[in-house]
Amino acid sequence: MADDFSRYSLVIGRFQPLHLGHMDVIRKCAEESDHLTIGIGSAQYSHTVENPFTAGERYLMIEETLKDEGIKNYSIVPVEDLNRYSVWVSHVVSMCPPFNTVYSNNPFTKRLFTEAGFEIKASPLYNRSVYSGTEVRRRMESDGDWRSLVPPAVAEVIEKIDGVGRVKSLSGKDAEL
Ligand code: ATP
Ligand code: MG
Repeated sequence: MADDFSRYSLVIGRFQPLHLGHMDVIRKCAEESDHLTIGIGSAQYSHTVENPFTAGERYLMIEETLKDEGIKNYSIVPVEDLNRYSVWVSHVVSMCPPFNTVYSNNPFTKRLFTEAGFEIKASPLYNRSVYSGTEVRRRMESDGDWRSLVPPAVAEVIEKIDGVGRVKSLSGKDAEL
């Protein structure tokens, strides 16, 4: 391990829910870093169509999956949104362990961290047409095969909390007529 935080990094997403595309990045980042912080963005939201799961549920999905994968050099930090982008990076910094490198493909996230002087690494998107939170939620709503898009531990947490029932009721599809 280096004697400073130069190989400490951050990856940030909403993880609604954690899917195999996220895991492709997380696995690579954890390997390339001494320590990886996984920031759970929009942490204050739950029970909405775009953000069905609470920060705690998302935390558990990530923790159980990384346990199965044998990844140990990480922290998970829920980060609430700030509707003031000019100070969002300092807000993230104030909540997280030290980091120097940010892994992101999101243009807005990249811009904000670049302006603040962080090194950005973009990792290629892994089969993005199916591995996206939006696609996982769409399949949950329509009784499609969402399980093949997420790690087994995520499917298990979603089953325990009746996540599919929640997503369906939020979408209004099971509303009583
Ligand atoms: P949603 O559709 O709900 O917005 P998402 O799949 O875009 O979900 P987010 O939780 O918004 O995922 O997290 C975005 C971060 O995850 C970005 O940095 C993005 O680069 C990374 N990411 C998302 N999907 C993939 C993928 N298929 N391969 C690699 N990285 C991904
Ligand atoms: Mg997204």
